[in-house]
Amino acid sequence: MKAIRLILVGPPGCGKGTQAKRIEDKFKIIQLSTGDMLRKAVAEGTPAGVKAKAIMEAGQLVPDDLIISMVGDRIAQPDCQAGFILDGFPRTLAQAQALDRSLKARGLRIDAVIEIRVPDEDLVERITGRFTCAQCGQGYHDRFQKPAREGICDKCGGSQFTRRADDNAETVRTRLKAYHEMTESIIPHYERQDILRVVDGRQGIDQVSEAVSAVVAAL
Ligand code: ADP
Ligand code: ADP
Ligand code: ZN
Repeated sequence: MKAIRLILVGPPGCGKGTQAKRIEDKFKIIQLSTGDMLRKAVAEGTPAGVKAKAIMEAGQLVPDDLIISMVGDRIAQPDCQAGFILDGFPRTLAQAQALDRSLKARGLRIDAVIEIRVPDEDLVERITGRFTCAQCGQGYHDRFQKPAREGICDKCGGSQFTRRADDNAETVRTRLKAYHEMTESIIPHYERQDILRVVDGRQGIDQVSEAVSAVVAAL
């Protein structure tokens, strides 16, 4: 099967992580979540993690050089040669340009950028209701995606769940501002390359998955 390289873009809470995991399962393309990578670096107390911690807690973007080198190292690894889904990167025009350059240097390119479009007013509830299985990372929501049996993960049977420190109503506003001021500018960049595909993220999770899958299947 040919390698597929995708980007998922959209505001915090639009469903990037949820959809990336579904594409990963269905098409066997690995998800690269920069938020997950950074949270791991913070938990492990690496130099990058130490730098990123307070910035993430405040809902701001970590410096471009830090995240660009983190992603550059990751996509050069053997398990990424069969393709990848970038979830949460790029988030600035400088990041998008750096990614283009590093792929081009190896004769590669992004196949599609899927924008998951959700209005701001829906995002606060999505984010403040989000929780995750501590054991397997499966995502849930207090209202929109509850485990079938309360307190038990559908996927792995685990009973410990976590909530992100930055998933509070106050930080969400800073994150939304960062999205509109910094990240939205990457959309016309990919529109010009004619690889942008827009999906209506207000639909239910399964309908969004169908729309996303249709884009991937057509590549
Ligand atoms: P992102 O990775 O873009 O920040 P997530 O995939 O983590 O977003 O989704 C945020 C929250 O909203 C999660 O709790 C998830 O279960 C829920 N969610 C995701 N997609 C939808 C949807 N289409 N409708 C309702 N809730 C959703
Ligand atoms: P969201 O649910 O907001 O999409 P993520 O898990 O993708 O959250 O990111 C969490 C935080 O990690 C961001 O608010 C930001 O501080 C940092 N971060 C993640 N990816 C990037 C990036 N590409 N550039 C800068 N900061 C990033
Ligand atoms: Zn689990």
